[in-house]
Amino acid sequence: MATLKEQLWDPIAGFGVTFRTMFRKVVTEQYPFEKVPTAPRFHGRHQLNRWPDGLEKCVGCELCAWACPADAIYVEGDSNTDDERYSPGERYGRVYQINYLRCILCGLCIEACPTRALTMTNEYELADNSRASLIYEKSDLLAPLLPGMEQPPHPMRLGDDEGDYYRGNLRARADDEAGEA
Ligand code: SF4
Ligand code: SF4
Repeated sequence: MATLKEQLWDPIAGFGVTFRTMFRKVVTEQYPFEKVPTAPRFHGRHQLNRWPDGLEKCVGCELCAWACPADAIYVEGDSNTDDERYSPGERYGRVYQINYLRCILCGLCIEACPTRALTMTNEYELADNSRASLIYEKSDLLAPLLPGMEQPPHPMRLGDDEGDYYRGNLRARADDEAGEA
Protein backbone atom coordinates (compact mmCIF):
# COMPACT_ATOMS: atom_id res chain seq x y z
CA MET A 1 0.00 0.00 0.00
CA ALA A 2 1.52 3.29 -1.13
CA THR A 3 2.00 5.94 1.52
CA LEU A 4 0.51 9.45 1.28
CA LYS A 5 3.99 10.83 0.40
CA GLU A 6 4.36 8.34 -2.47
CA GLN A 7 0.86 9.16 -3.78
CA LEU A 8 1.03 12.97 -3.59
CA TRP A 9 4.55 14.35 -3.13
CA ASP A 10 6.64 11.98 -5.29
CA PRO A 11 4.74 12.73 -8.59
CA ILE A 12 5.04 16.48 -7.91
CA ALA A 13 8.78 16.10 -7.22
CA GLY A 14 9.14 14.07 -10.44
CA PHE A 15 7.45 16.78 -12.53
CA GLY A 16 9.66 19.33 -10.78
CA VAL A 17 12.67 17.76 -12.49
CA THR A 18 10.84 18.01 -15.84
CA PHE A 19 10.00 21.70 -15.36
CA ARG A 20 13.49 22.62 -14.19
CA THR A 21 15.01 20.92 -17.25
CA MET A 22 12.63 22.76 -19.63
CA PHE A 23 14.27 26.08 -18.75
CA ARG A 24 17.89 24.93 -18.91
CA LYS A 25 20.20 25.75 -21.82
CA VAL A 26 19.81 23.28 -24.70
CA VAL A 27 22.97 21.17 -25.21
CA THR A 28 22.29 19.81 -28.71
CA GLU A 29 25.57 19.34 -30.63
CA GLN A 30 25.40 20.86 -34.13
CA TYR A 31 27.40 17.99 -35.65
CA PRO A 32 28.39 17.72 -38.53
CA PHE A 33 28.15 21.52 -39.05
CA GLU A 34 30.22 22.23 -35.94
CA LYS A 35 32.86 19.65 -35.05
CA VAL A 36 33.99 19.64 -31.45
CA PRO A 37 37.56 18.38 -30.80
CA THR A 38 37.76 15.06 -28.97
CA ALA A 39 39.60 14.43 -25.72
CA PRO A 40 43.35 14.10 -26.49
CA ARG A 41 43.40 10.36 -25.70
CA PHE A 42 40.19 9.54 -27.60
CA HIS A 43 40.44 6.18 -29.40
CA GLY A 44 39.76 6.84 -33.08
CA ARG A 45 40.99 5.43 -36.37
CA HIS A 46 44.26 3.50 -36.21
CA GLN A 47 47.55 4.57 -37.76
CA LEU A 48 50.56 2.50 -38.84
CA ASN A 49 53.61 4.56 -37.96
CA ARG A 50 56.94 5.02 -39.71
CA TRP A 51 60.55 5.50 -38.65
CA PRO A 52 62.10 8.91 -39.44
CA ASP A 53 63.53 7.62 -42.76
CA GLY A 54 60.08 6.44 -43.91
CA LEU A 55 60.48 2.70 -43.24
CA GLU A 56 57.49 1.06 -41.57
CA LYS A 57 57.51 0.21 -37.86
CA CYS A 58 55.21 -2.80 -38.37
CA VAL A 59 57.12 -6.10 -38.41
CA GLY A 60 54.11 -8.24 -39.34
CA CYS A 61 54.16 -10.18 -36.05
CA GLU A 62 50.33 -10.41 -35.81
CA LEU A 63 50.29 -9.76 -32.04
CA CYS A 64 47.70 -7.03 -32.59
CA ALA A 65 45.46 -9.47 -34.45
CA TRP A 66 45.76 -12.06 -31.67
CA ALA A 67 44.98 -9.45 -29.00
CA CYS A 68 41.85 -8.19 -30.75
CA PRO A 69 38.67 -9.43 -29.02
CA ALA A 70 36.55 -8.65 -32.09
CA ASP A 71 38.75 -10.43 -34.67
CA ALA A 72 38.91 -7.16 -36.60
CA ILE A 73 42.57 -7.25 -37.69
CA TYR A 74 44.10 -9.34 -40.46
CA VAL A 75 47.88 -9.36 -40.98
CA GLU A 76 50.11 -11.25 -43.38
CA GLY A 77 53.82 -10.80 -42.74
CA ASP A 78 56.61 -11.26 -45.26
CA SER A 79 60.42 -11.15 -45.26
CA ASN A 80 62.40 -8.07 -46.22
CA THR A 81 65.22 -8.62 -48.70
CA ASP A 82 68.31 -6.49 -49.36
CA ASP A 83 66.71 -5.34 -52.62
CA GLU A 84 63.25 -4.70 -51.20
CA ARG A 85 63.08 -3.43 -47.63
CA TYR A 86 59.91 -2.01 -46.03
CA SER A 87 60.93 -2.14 -42.33
CA PRO A 88 64.31 -2.18 -40.58
CA GLY A 89 63.69 -5.68 -39.14
CA GLU A 90 63.65 -9.11 -40.72
CA ARG A 91 59.90 -9.00 -41.48
CA TYR A 92 57.26 -6.47 -42.43
CA GLY A 93 53.48 -6.41 -42.70
CA ARG A 94 52.72 -7.18 -46.36
CA VAL A 95 48.95 -7.23 -45.83
CA TYR A 96 47.36 -5.23 -43.04
CA GLN A 97 43.60 -4.77 -42.71
CA ILE A 98 41.30 -3.44 -39.98
CA ASN A 99 37.60 -4.15 -40.30
CA TYR A 100 35.77 -1.16 -38.81
CA LEU A 101 32.47 -3.05 -38.99
CA ARG A 102 33.86 -5.17 -36.16
CA CYS A 103 36.28 -2.88 -34.32
CA ILE A 104 35.00 -1.59 -30.98
CA LEU A 105 37.94 0.87 -30.63
CA CYS A 106 39.00 -0.74 -27.35
CA GLY A 107 42.74 -0.17 -27.90
CA LEU A 108 43.92 -3.67 -26.91
CA CYS A 109 45.72 -4.02 -30.23
CA ILE A 110 47.87 -0.94 -29.66
CA GLU A 111 48.80 -2.22 -26.20
CA ALA A 112 49.93 -5.50 -27.76
CA CYS A 113 52.11 -3.96 -30.47
CA PRO A 114 55.81 -4.42 -29.54
CA THR A 115 57.17 -1.69 -31.84
CA ARG A 116 54.57 1.09 -31.33
CA ALA A 117 53.82 0.63 -35.01
CA LEU A 118 50.12 0.74 -34.28
CA THR A 119 48.55 3.71 -32.51
CA MET A 120 45.15 5.38 -32.62
CA THR A 121 44.32 8.84 -33.92
CA ASN A 122 41.46 11.11 -32.81
CA GLU A 123 39.64 10.64 -36.12
CA TYR A 124 36.10 9.42 -35.43
CA GLU A 125 34.27 9.84 -38.75
CA LEU A 126 34.26 6.18 -39.71
CA ALA A 127 30.68 5.78 -40.96
CA ASP A 128 29.98 4.81 -44.57
CA ASN A 129 27.17 3.34 -46.63
CA SER A 130 29.31 0.55 -48.05
CA ARG A 131 30.51 -2.40 -45.99
CA ALA A 132 33.54 -2.97 -48.19
CA SER A 133 34.84 0.56 -47.69
CA LEU A 134 34.93 0.03 -43.93
CA ILE A 135 37.66 -2.58 -44.29
CA TYR A 136 40.73 -0.34 -44.20
CA GLU A 137 43.81 -1.55 -46.05
CA LYS A 138 47.43 -0.88 -45.14
CA SER A 139 47.51 2.03 -47.60
CA ASP A 140 44.58 3.66 -45.72
CA LEU A 141 46.25 3.20 -42.34
CA LEU A 142 49.89 4.11 -43.03
CA ALA A 143 51.05 7.45 -41.63
CA PRO A 144 51.74 10.07 -44.31
CA LEU A 145 55.34 10.67 -45.38
CA LEU A 146 56.77 13.66 -43.51
CA PRO A 147 59.64 15.82 -44.77
CA GLY A 148 62.85 13.76 -44.82
CA MET A 149 60.97 10.46 -45.22
CA GLU A 150 61.22 8.30 -48.31
CA GLN A 151 58.58 5.93 -49.68
CA PRO A 152 59.65 2.27 -49.01
CA PRO A 153 61.07 -0.01 -50.26
CA HIS A 154 64.52 1.41 -49.62
CA PRO A 155 67.60 0.54 -47.51
CA MET A 156 67.90 1.53 -43.83
CA ARG A 157 68.99 5.17 -43.71
CA LEU A 158 69.37 5.51 -39.95
CA GLY A 159 72.07 2.91 -39.25
CA ASP A 160 74.32 0.26 -40.78
CA ASP A 161 72.71 -2.58 -38.84
CA GLU A 162 69.55 -3.01 -36.74
CA GLY A 163 71.32 -2.07 -33.48
CA ASP A 164 72.63 1.17 -34.98
CA TYR A 165 69.26 1.86 -36.55
CA TYR A 166 67.15 1.48 -33.40
CA ARG A 167 69.63 3.35 -31.19
CA GLY A 168 69.94 6.13 -33.79
CA ASN A 169 73.77 5.80 -33.70
CA LEU A 170 74.27 6.89 -37.31
CA ARG A 171 72.30 10.08 -36.75
CA ALA A 172 74.16 10.75 -33.50
CA ARG A 173 77.51 10.25 -35.32
CA ALA A 174 76.42 12.61 -38.12
CA ASP A 175 75.39 15.21 -35.53
CA ASP A 176 78.80 14.82 -33.78
CA GLU A 177 80.65 15.23 -37.10
CA ALA A 178 78.57 18.31 -37.94
CA GLY A 179 79.38 19.71 -34.49
CA GLU A 180 83.14 19.14 -34.96
CA ALA A 181 83.21 20.68 -38.45
S1 SF4 B 1 40.68 -1.32 -31.11
FE1 SF4 B 1 40.04 -3.26 -30.12
S2 SF4 B 1 38.45 -4.09 -31.47
FE2 SF4 B 1 39.52 -2.49 -32.65
S3 SF4 B 1 41.08 -3.60 -33.79
FE3 SF4 B 1 42.04 -2.93 -31.86
S4 SF4 B 1 41.77 -4.65 -30.42
FE4 SF4 B 1 40.37 -4.98 -32.15
S1 SF4 C 1 51.03 -3.48 -35.89
FE1 SF4 C 1 52.44 -4.10 -34.26
S2 SF4 C 1 51.52 -5.94 -33.34
FE2 SF4 C 1 50.51 -5.60 -35.33
S3 SF4 C 1 51.66 -6.87 -36.79
FE3 SF4 C 1 52.55 -4.80 -36.85
S4 SF4 C 1 54.25 -4.87 -35.35
FE4 SF4 C 1 52.95 -6.64 -34.93
